Amino acid sequence: MVRAIVGANWGDEGKGKVTDVLAEKSDVVVRFQGGANAGHTIINEYGKFALHLLPSGVFHQNVINVIGPGVALNIEALLKELAGLNERGVPAPQIRISDRCQVMLPWHVDFDKFEEERLGKNSFGSTKSGIAPFYSDKFAKVGIQVCQLYDEGILRERLAIALVKKNCLLEHLYHKPAVDVEALVAYLKELGEKIRPMVCDTTRLLHEADRAGKTILLEGQLGTLRDPDHGIYPYTTSSSPLAGYGCVGAGVPPTSLKDIICVTKAYSSAVGAGPFVCRLTGPEGDELRRRGGDAGEFGATTGRARDVGWFDAVATRYGVMVQGATEVVLTNLDVLGYLPEIPVCVAYETAAGERITDFPATPVLMGCKPVYETLPGWLCDIRGTARYEDLPENCRRYVDFVEKACDAPIRMVSIGPKREEILLR
Ligand code: GDP
Repeated sequence: MVRAIVGANWGDEGKGKVTDVLAEKSDVVVRFQGGANAGHTIINEYGKFALHLLPSGVFHQNVINVIGPGVALNIEALLKELAGLNERGVPAPQIRISDRCQVMLPWHVDFDKFEEERLGKNSFGSTKSGIAPFYSDKFAKVGIQVCQLYDEGILRERLAIALVKKNCLLEHLYHKPAVDVEALVAYLKELGEKIRPMVCDTTRLLHEADRAGKTILLEGQLGTLRDPDHGIYPYTTSSSPLAGYGCVGAGVPPTSLKDIICVTKAYSSAVGAGPFVCRLTGPEGDELRRRGGDAGEFGATTGRARDVGWFDAVATRYGVMVQGATEVVLTNLDVLGYLPEIPVCVAYETAAGERITDFPATPVLMGCKPVYETLPGWLCDIRGTARYEDLPENCRRYVDFVEKACDAPIRMVSIGPKREEILLR
């Protein structure tokens, strides 16, 4: 049985924590897209971790953690993360890397930086981890698959073909030194050897696990609104964070996907450029940012201050719908305990003065303003509450409101960043 855990919004919804919780009862956890650009925060008995590339099942020794073919594999980053877990006393996890996964090359990271510099004020707020150049090369068919690291002839030939264009851009557009193919071949061969014991045909592994009745979790990175097709293009990422794509990026049959668990926060947060209708500026926003997450709303990868705002029913309903959620997990509910009244965005007003409740495409979205209603707050700290029924009535009403807005059942509510701080409803 395959379950996907994905984000309804702009990312940072708390998927890492939910995956860590659900991984306990799973056999395999798979990353199916994205790369080391996102950060999933996990707090458990080993401490606090920001996982970038490793699947969130790495804290459970019985779980097989798969890096699927859809991932942008930065080998150095992966090895560094693994070493980091080891240094902090986490027993060695089981990792399998798809032989079809493509490898992040040094020029991808460089091009990402140079391009954001060139764009200046029009930049996309990239984390500069090479993601956009990586996926561009993959679809232009000049990428390098993991399996190609083990055939020097193929590797040298493919790099040489790609480098003709890359070096032209490096020298003449960005005015940077050209890349030497021999040094690159040597570097990549060495990285290939370091991961060799983890490399296998993960598609076969997953199909066999599924047939054997194992539970497989597909772990999405970012959220619906960063999807290149369905999100706020061009302020999106370069691979699809949708559960539907999970089947492709992981390598499981679409018919095996039974649960789509869509994570959303009790308020909004987004990092990077692009329209964010509910953005709160001034002291109200500063306070929500300071109180949000486990230590304020700051990016787990970049440390950048995230934009924050009230819950956005328009964006979240759309995000949940596009994911095809079978259930919603509401996180960070504890954060709102300081507010006597909680504004929620129930509609947008477009630049033309029209009130809309369907999430629009980017040009209209850019001119939208939020239409708020307020719900009563509960004015107490709900962390430590043992049962859902024990939450204050106004807090449960807030959950009812979000559930109605999402049009999907909320079965789990997270009331703190730690593993055990989750209530079943
Ligand atoms: P992900 O990328 O979706 O895994 O999300 P991030 O880890 O980037 O961001 C989620 C933030 O919320 C992190 O700081 C988590 O530790 C924190 N978090 C998750 N669930 C809760 C919760 O229920 N309450 C609080 N206060 N923090 C939470």
